[in-house]
Formats: sequence, C-alpha cells, structure tokens
Amino acid sequence: MSLGEFDLIDRYFARLTPARDDIRLGVGDDAAVVSVPPGDELVIATDTLVEGVHFPRDTSPDAIGYKALAVNLSDLAAMGARPAWVTLSLTLPQADADWLDAFAGGFGRLAAESGIALIGGDTTRGPLTVTVTVHGLVPQGQALTRGGAGPEEAVFVSGGLGGAAAALALLTRPDAWPDALERLSACRGRLDYPQPRLALGEALRGLATAVIDVSDGLLADTNHLCAASAVGMEIDVDQVPRDPALAAILPMSDPRWYEWPLAGGDDYELCFIVPQAGIAGVAALEQSLGIALTRIGETTREPGCLLKHADGSLYAARDQGYRHFS
Ligand code: ADP
Ligand code: MG
Repeated sequence: MSLGEFDLIDRYFARLTPARDDIRLGVGDDAAVVSVPPGDELVIATDTLVEGVHFPRDTSPDAIGYKALAVNLSDLAAMGARPAWVTLSLTLPQADADWLDAFAGGFGRLAAESGIALIGGDTTRGPLTVTVTVHGLVPQGQALTRGGAGPEEAVFVSGGLGGAAAALALLTRPDAWPDALERLSACRGRLDYPQPRLALGEALRGLATAVIDVSDGLLADTNHLCAASAVGMEIDVDQVPRDPALAAILPMSDPRWYEWPLAGGDDYELCFIVPQAGIAGVAALEQSLGIALTRIGETTREPGCLLKHADGSLYAARDQGYRHFS
C-alpha cells in the first residue's frame, strides 16, 4: 500500500502487543531479531484467511483479527508449544480507520491473553487476506506431533464439536431454518471466536503420543493422525462430544447431529492419543484445566478409521474434511 502505509503500521500495529524481554528488535526495521532461550526449540506455523473462503463476508473485523491469530495459536497448541512471537501480513482493499481499529482490537486482545508479541509483518492493497505466522517455544525434543501413537491407545477430544459447522449452515441458508437468527446467536461465537487450547497443548507434553487440532473436521483430522502414526482407529460415534449449542438447534434424530461434529470443520479443539497408562493423567487434567476431555475411541493395529455405532456395527469413516481444491 503506497499512501499512508507507514502511518497505518505505526498507528495500529507498531505497539499493538505487550513487549517481551526476548525481542531485540520488533516492528520498524527490515526484520525482527529475537533470542531463543537455550534448551528450547522454535515451533513455527502459518495460516492464511481469505474473505469469503475462511470467513463469511459479514464477519466483524474484530472477529477477523481474533480468528486469524486463534487458528494459528491452535497449531502451536497442537505441538505443545508456548506462544512467543507473531508476524502479520495484511492485504486490504482500503485503509479504513474503523475497520483497522476493530481488527487490531480483536487481534491484540487474544495476543495479550496468550502472551504473544507482534514483531513484524507486511501491509499491501488487494482483496482482503490475512496471513499470520506464529513462533512458539518448546523444550528441546518435546514437541508433540501427529506421528507418535501406537496401537491400543486411547483417543480423546477436547470440548465439543459441530458448533462452527452449525453456525456456517445457519448463516449460508437462513431461509432453511425456523428462527434462524435466534439459533445462530447460540453458535456464531464458535465460528468467529474459536478458543485455541494452549494450556491443554502444553499439558499434553509427556502425556500424549500424538496430537492434532481439529480444523478440517474430526474424521479428516483423525485420518491424518492415523496416517502419520501408522495405526488404525475405532471411533465410538455416540461418544463424540457435541457442542452444547447443537441441542438448541437440532433434534438428535437429525442426521446433522452426526454430520456436523464428525465432518464439520473450524472447531479448533485438540484430538489426542494417550497410552492406557496415561488415561488417569487425562482425567486429572480435565479437573485442573476445567475443559471436557472425552474419550472417543481407540487406536488399532489394522489401518483405517472405523466408526462404531451403538449397536456394535462398524462403518468405514471416509475422509470428509474440507478440501480446497477438490
Ligand atoms: P520492507 O519494505 O523493508 O519490507 P515494510 O515497509 O514492509 O518494510 O515494513 C516496515 C516495518 O513494518 C517492518 O518492520 C515490518 O515488519 C513492519 N510491518 C509492516 N506491516 C506490518 C503489519 N501489518 N503488522 C506489523 N508489522 C508490520
Ligand atoms: Mg515488507
């Protein structure tokens, strides 16, 4: 962005987040300089949000700022990392002061809550696109991955699933729902303000053998866990925790009662695997963190992800996650 680019950066982003002692040079030079504590490793993730693809066009700028950071922090959570530094590349159709105020508000609030500092970025003109890159820290060799699980281990998921998919369905087809606006108000927050499970991710170090954040939908993401860990999985579909908002929107007899929690995306809960000996540790974590941690199944030696129904019947779980190019 030519005109006003530097004023814009200075006004909204140069001092947006709290300082950290480990930043030698932040926003304003050609690059940032930070020091990684001895004994730690750097964990890096990046995610882009495009208007109309990753968030509906009517999303508030506060929510866009919040969510752009939240989905990235969710990746750090899945690695067991603690947030440290972030860069922000912003492509804007125009420099609107109210929009920027609200965007910086949502981004800055979550940054302050999670202890991450904005150290640089890029600002250009074009269709609204937000790219965030987060840097986290983890003690050497202790990063959690998708790949460490073995057979006959327990599969857990945090929180409740399907709320974001419900909000998206209500937003895109409001005419298909009686009292759509009222129902939407029960779940819109799950789509716009997902909560990255950072404390859980850190607590899973040394406990979980494999972790993924549920961004594409539970079945797609459990398939990723299975592929990376070279195991299979049996998921008890009735144990999959539903977002509490679903009960206000759907009867349990509706097929979407299954579809949204299993195949809807954007929930940003953690799905993780622990050996049998770690199950008691998960129960203790549930108490100390105050987050529901529900056992939904078990890994198997046989490859493939199977869905187990209440009557004991098994179905192959197709990978039904969101695919950008299919
Ligand atoms: P350069 O031309 O050297 O790439 P820029 O003009 O892109 O520098 O950026 C100037 C400074 O402002 C850099 O330190 C950069 O990291 C920072 N910056 C640019 N845009 C943002 C942004 N949206 N948020 C935070 N920092 C930004
Ligand atoms: Mg630049």
